[in-house]
Amino acid sequence: MVMAAALLAGALRRGRAGGGARYFAGESLRRLVSTLVVAEHEGGLVKPSSLSALAAAEAIAKENKVSLLLGGSGPTLHKAAQHAASSHPLVNEVLVADSDVFAHPLAEPWAELLRSVQQKGGYSHVIASSTSFGKNLLPRAAALLDVSPVTDVTAISEPRVFVRPIYAGNALCTVRYTGENPCMMSIRSTSFSPTTESMPETKVAPITQVDLSFLNEVSSRKSSWVNLTSQDTERPDLANACVVVTGGRGLKSAENFKLLEQLAEKLGAAVGATRAAVDAGYVPNELQVGQTGKIVAPELYIAFGVSGAIQHLAGMRDSKVIVAVNKDADAPIFQVADYGIVGDLFQVLGELLRKMPDKK
Ligand SMILES: Cc1cc2nc3c(=O)[nH]c(=O)nc-3n(C[C@H](O)[C@H](O)[C@H](O)COP(=O)(O)OP(=O)(O)OC[C@H]3O[C@@H](n4cnc5c(N)ncnc54)[C@H](O)[C@@H]3O)c2cc1C
Repeated sequence: MVMAAALLAGALRRGRAGGGARYFAGESLRRLVSTLVVAEHEGGLVKPSSLSALAAAEAIAKENKVSLLLGGSGPTLHKAAQHAASSHPLVNEVLVADSDVFAHPLAEPWAELLRSVQQKGGYSHVIASSTSFGKNLLPRAAALLDVSPVTDVTAISEPRVFVRPIYAGNALCTVRYTGENPCMMSIRSTSFSPTTESMPETKVAPITQVDLSFLNEVSSRKSSWVNLTSQDTERPDLANACVVVTGGRGLKSAENFKLLEQLAEKLGAAVGATRAAVDAGYVPNELQVGQTGKIVAPELYIAFGVSGAIQHLAGMRDSKVIVAVNKDADAPIFQVADYGIVGDLFQVLGELLRKMPDKK
């Protein structure tokens, strides 16, 4: 259903393509756009990655009617719903699925929720961010709705024409979605900046409870929530941090990663890692940056002892300024680095820690 745009240009000119589906071009399609955005939230606020999904909805069409879907339970859900209601001028309504079933990022019940809301709302588009949760949820919900999702969208040129990276980010592919509604997509939040437009005080979207009767129809679930293990840290979230300091296998041990953490404290930075460092057990998986980890695009990315494999570059090459420290002058990381230091990382780290003042 997702095909290279050029291949479909001829079919679209004729107004039809593939299994007899009808396509609308330009203005007529823009008028029919309505979008359901999956909104992740934390501490009573919609997460920045979901605000980026709203920016993507705006890129689809300026007159897009957007519904934001939030799930969970308790006061933080309702606080987040209020935040959602005034988060973007395009938000038309906020849908709240108030149940413990949605309190955790379990993709199976969430996929059923998405199917139910989509079937009632008939949206032309459904957007989630390419977070761990979004990547888990979207394909399942798409399968239930019998459509193919378009993943990792980085740019939107028409309501159904998208740019997405392929080959670990080494090429960009323009695709046209030719399937039935909804067009389901995950977006890279680093490619869509949340709006800075201030909201008029009168523009607060209504908050509506979602009908959850579909939950009674599901007799048993194959998954259940056990617990969440996460680092207790005051440092910024890796996916949204302005500065990221990353360590690779060159750090050699979990103990040495503590040096990186000290530097991160001083810089107010998040700590990242390569997959090799994660696999070696130096740091937990949630710190992994790359094709199969988090995608980051901070103002400053400092890499210590990272070789620069394409799978790692896929997760950080859009960083504004890249600094690399590696003892091997031929390491591929230097091909994308703005500043490179060829030398022993422990010497450089030690010097930085000595010279840099503590963060106030
Ligand atoms: C399907 C697939 C998905 C993958 N997804 C990811 C992903 O999401 N993220 C990811 O990172 N990788 C991913 N990988 C793994 C990737 O291919 C590389 O193996 C990995 O990124 C290498 O990590 P590294 O740079 O830490 O280790 P290495 O390649 O071993 O590099 C270590 C570097 O440290 C330098 N070094 C060593 N000691 C010092 C010192 N004292 N001072 C200075 N420099 C030093 C060395 O010169 C070397 O360049 C994936 C691989 C596959 C096949």
